[in-house]
Amino acid sequence: MNANTAGRTGGPGGDRIRVALPNKGRLSDKAVALLEQAGLRAVLRGDRALVADLGQDFQALFVRAADIPEYVADGAADVGITGADLVAESGREVTEILDLEFGFCRLAVAVREESPARSAAELPAGTRVATSFPGVARRYFQSLGIPIEIASVTGATEIAPHLGVADVIVDLVSTGSTLRMNALREVDTIMTSTARLVANPRALQVPATASAVGGLATAVESVLRAEAKRYLMTNVPRARLEEVRRVIPGINGPTIVEILDGDAWVAAHAVVDADQVYQTIARLKELGAEGILVTRIERLMP
Ligand code: AMP
Repeated sequence: MNANTAGRTGGPGGDRIRVALPNKGRLSDKAVALLEQAGLRAVLRGDRALVADLGQDFQALFVRAADIPEYVADGAADVGITGADLVAESGREVTEILDLEFGFCRLAVAVREESPARSAAELPAGTRVATSFPGVARRYFQSLGIPIEIASVTGATEIAPHLGVADVIVDLVSTGSTLRMNALREVDTIMTSTARLVANPRALQVPATASAVGGLATAVESVLRAEAKRYLMTNVPRARLEEVRRVIPGINGPTIVEILDGDAWVAAHAVVDADQVYQTIARLKELGAEGILVTRIERLMP
């Protein structure tokens, strides 16, 4: 289903679904690209526009990723795409609709390399923690029963221990190389994060909005599912079909198509796992397969 046709008759008026998207930063390009693949192409009104058309029923609002939980919780936007870490930090109530499986990172506790602490639980009361996630950090140390002091910073958190601002940091990590470069050692993960599609809970009680958001979620989910799959087509000897079925079972068994060659060969088509394509091809070759073709899938709905 195209999200644009998902059960809502929005017009040019104010009844369109407002989708808050990150205007810059790590999540922005991928969020816009994902919506486009799902059928919602952002048509900007000028280079620096804060608002864009996303087809007839949806409208994009470009704002900071960190502000999106507020916009969605307040109802200024009906849905939004932002990091789970930012939703947690906001402490605001939004309904998570989908894990979008990009923007992987973890919110970690790190100490100076020379610190004796092996885990956050070993840190002494009164530890000064530099972070741009004061809410999450405070709640985490409260759960450990360790009173801390927070030094709230907005960026380059890893410098704080070297400036004597803090003993410990709570910061986002993806590979850990920034921590190592700054002579810091990770001792605990508070949470892992990916980008999420979130919605305003009250907006979801309006049937037309719920139906449009459901259509959007279905379209986005079909794109995510398709990204992990490929469509494989191959010619195989008819005599090996049972073995072929075991190698490419597809969704309900491979599709078998006749070839006008005098009966020895057929074509077999199936959806396969993208990360298994090399092994699958090798096994098909062993069965005598020829003319193997692998293509991307735009959307997949089981
Ligand atoms: P921005 O500050 O606008 O670039 O967005 C930061 C968001 O991107 C974070 O809140 C996370 O959800 C996500 N993210 C993914 N990987 C990382 C990373 N290595 N460092 C910081 N943020 C990351």
